[in-house]
Amino acid sequence: MPSTRTHAPRGALVFDMRQLGRQAGSALTQTRTVPAPDDLRLELIGVPAGADVPLEVRFEAVSEGVLVTGTAIAPLAGECARCLAPLTSSVTVGFQELYLYAESRHDKHDKHDKHDKHDDQEEQDAGELYHLDGDLLDLEPAFRDAVVLALPMSPLCREDCPGLCVECGVPLADAGPDHRHDEATDPRWAALKQLDDTEDNHQGRRAGAIDLQEG
Ligand SMILES: [Zn+2]
Ligand SMILES: [Zn+2]
Repeated sequence: MPSTRTHAPRGALVFDMRQLGRQAGSALTQTRTVPAPDDLRLELIGVPAGADVPLEVRFEAVSEGVLVTGTAIAPLAGECARCLAPLTSSVTVGFQELYLYAESRHDKHDKHDKHDKHDDQEEQDAGELYHLDGDLLDLEPAFRDAVVLALPMSPLCREDCPGLCVECGVPLADAGPDHRHDEATDPRWAALKQLDDTEDNHQGRRAGAIDLQEG
């Protein structure tokens, strides 16, 4: 579904507030399964673009706008921070944001239109608020911020993942508890090992060398 990239996610997270009306105190709950927008990810884990995300949102009219309280269950795919094995899981994300009516907007027209991820982040950092566009409420920026905040920085394939062997890089979960390299890293053992190899490979010459010593 190539069109998902640009069209479906934005439309999928737009809610029409005409049903809610503007009388403070009126409320409306909607459930919807939306395709995950692009770029919901950190370095090691994220929500696959287009993946189904069940969403329940309660809209409540307040004097200056609409208070949005939502819960989403986002599927995750990524890799374990310790052993790098692929992993899938999910995260339940709760969020609450106030969307101001358009009339409350001051001078944010250009910022709003760009909807660059970076701009959204900056708005959030600055503690600015989201705005409705007429009767339409685009949940995507609030949803995006909430999901990205909920992503684990160090996802693990399992709580006690032992990670990788620092010597050879095999996953220690596969290699077992006896896996170690103590002998090989001791130079004396390494020298013996090398001798053994030489003897195995040169049986004939060894015999010759002994003869030479004796004679
Ligand atoms: Zn792991
Ligand atoms: Zn190893």
